Amino acid sequence: MTVDKGVLYIVATPIGNLGDISARGIDVLRQVDLIAAEDTRHTKPLLRHLNVSTPLQALHEHNEKAQLEGLIDRLVSGQAIALVSDAGTPLISDPGFPLVRECHRRRIRISPVPGACAAIAALSASGLATDRFRFEGFPPRTSSARQLLFRNLLVESATLVFYEASHRIRESLADMTVVFGVDRRAVLARELTKLHETILSAELGELDALLERDPNQRKGEFVILVAGALKKAGVVSPEAVRVLDILRESLPLKQAASLAARISGEKKNQLYQLALKQDQG
Ligand code: SAM
Repeated sequence: MTVDKGVLYIVATPIGNLGDISARGIDVLRQVDLIAAEDTRHTKPLLRHLNVSTPLQALHEHNEKAQLEGLIDRLVSGQAIALVSDAGTPLISDPGFPLVRECHRRRIRISPVPGACAAIAALSASGLATDRFRFEGFPPRTSSARQLLFRNLLVESATLVFYEASHRIRESLADMTVVFGVDRRAVLARELTKLHETILSAELGELDALLERDPNQRKGEFVILVAGALKKAGVVSPEAVRVLDILRESLPLKQAASLAARISGEKKNQLYQLALKQDQG
């Protein structure tokens, strides 16, 4: 017997290839009393494929609060529940957070059944630094909000990981190119574990141009990874220069240099001298 009574299991499901579910994941889905699924229409084919006939209940962002008490009552009465999303690991840019938080409040046991996650799969194959990374989920929908977010990440030295939908991939890449610069290294991980899996590693400017040339590269599901900002000893980083340039649009030189130094970690005087030089020529 794999499942315990009164436990909420967080079960990862495949992000493409149906083989990517663990043996324990299948056992848990088979043995729990109920599967709470982001979209039952989406989960049904997977359960059919796995030969699992456990009852399903929808749990998505629009009914999450209304369903909460009922699910908690079931758990308190000793039923075991599995939480799944449409693909990958629940709660990672997917529903489930209120339920998990409430289980913690009520001291209800939660057990993860790990498996596929697009962000981690992409990172592991990206060739970018993996010792530190920053998951940012989906960037905002408007260009101005996106650029603002990217500016706030300009001097981040950890690898940046984003999710993006096909209808916004070009716009997001274009905004990344504007803010991080054409020569920042990046990776586009598309359709992972599926027929058209593609992992493109290049500078942002090249990726942007490639997607413009080839409409096929804009199709499907994407993880975008951007290399963290590099800091060379004694040299002002391109990120610090960008921060300085942006701040100078609305602040006097001295104040801009001081703020840019605080944001980027560079020396205030070095940035001040740089701005003076820019003014002179
Ligand atoms: N919870 C999921 C996980 O663990 O990866 C992510 C859910 S989020 C709503 C869906 C986004 O994940 C997609 O828009 C895409 O950015 C990314 N994604 C999901 N499957 C993918 C795949 N096979 N290849 C690349 N990206 C994928």
